Amino acid sequence: MIDFKALADKYKTPLYVYDFDYMSAQYNELKEAFRARKSIVAYAIKANSNLSVVKHFAKLGAGADCVSIGEVRRALLAGIPPYKIIFSGVGKRDDEIAEAIQSDILYINVESEAELGRVELIAKELGKTSRISVRVNPNIDPKTHPYISTGLHDNKFGVDLDTAKRMYIKAKNSESLDPVGIHFHIGSQLTELQPIYEAAEIVADLVRSLEAIDIELKFFDIGGGLGITYKDEETIKPYDYAQAILGTLKGLDLTVLCEPGRFLTANAGYFLTKVLYEKQNGEKKFVVVDGAMNDLLRPSLYKAYHKIEALTNSNEEEREVDIVGPVCESGDFFAKDYPLPPLEHNDLLVIHSAGAYGFTMASNYNTRGRSAEVAVENNKDRLIRKREEFEDLIALEKEFLED
Ligand SMILES: *Cc1c(COP(=O)(O)O)cnc(C)c1O
Repeated sequence: MIDFKALADKYKTPLYVYDFDYMSAQYNELKEAFRARKSIVAYAIKANSNLSVVKHFAKLGAGADCVSIGEVRRALLAGIPPYKIIFSGVGKRDDEIAEAIQSDILYINVESEAELGRVELIAKELGKTSRISVRVNPNIDPKTHPYISTGLHDNKFGVDLDTAKRMYIKAKNSESLDPVGIHFHIGSQLTELQPIYEAAEIVADLVRSLEAIDIELKFFDIGGGLGITYKDEETIKPYDYAQAILGTLKGLDLTVLCEPGRFLTANAGYFLTKVLYEKQNGEKKFVVVDGAMNDLLRPSLYKAYHKIEALTNSNEEEREVDIVGPVCESGDFFAKDYPLPPLEHNDLLVIHSAGAYGFTMASNYNTRGRSAEVAVENNKDRLIRKREEFEDLIALEKEFLED
């Protein structure tokens, strides 16, 4: 059990706390599920890109799925070997493509014909061959929140099957391109196996049809998206997930790559915030806390549910309250109509499932410094990111004040 009160006293609030042992357990369970084949679990860095978190996964043997050159640099800095790093994303600048090629990462995940042309040109200019995979959009409804669904033709990700085939043929015929992988990622917070299975079948069939024309791939990249329990969701078991995927790959000699983010870190993370005071506006009761939407955006952005636990001595009856932060937006809330007992100044709230898309989506809105981050491993805690101070926030502006 993590002693949240002691951590809040030691490091102050608002504060992110990550259970590194939980991250290890999640990683190991998933890796184990794929043991019948060669596999790389490439951690999706965007979920939680703290260098110590990435280093933790590096030590476990993970690869990294990156969506900017900044993330590629983080992965390398944290000790992920280049041959386990992939670079995805619908839009990559020329300098990002060039640096990825120079860094000799495993492959660049290409998301359009135009991008394939850019990668070819840049590789040629550098006198290199770029390993690539193509992100296929299998047009499968992942049955998740529309904002985090990515595998349907009406969203911006990937290319359809015919386009993908054309791109592989072009890559095969280019001296500057080496097609090594195929990729799909149909969405996030997936809790049903069927859509993933169907997508994998479609993409595996494409791999077979490419083999028929002598294009031999090595990596079958199934993306991320494994869902977790925020409230009471039934989730996909890693074992069943792996079995379903492996079932589509009969007769194919491919290394499986998966790109989990949320699955590895979400439920390892807690956001700690202190009660400032309660207030009542008409019928409505508010608990005002010191954390805000700039620290943890998911409730405001997706109306996401996060379990909230009040560490208080109060044993009075719970009432329904809105838990809100100090930011000047009506959308600044962590929960609405949430049952909590009466709270006092400095009572601590623990917001669960905050380890993914928490700190990485934080901003400095309202000139609020971002929270500190703390790791807990083997019952020991350590600071892994300092709290931002006012001086940090103005550092890049200050020099322009002089006139
Ligand atoms: C965001 C993303 C992931 C990780 O998604 P999770 O839901 O956190 O597992 C993996 N791959 C790609 C291409 C992504 O965009």
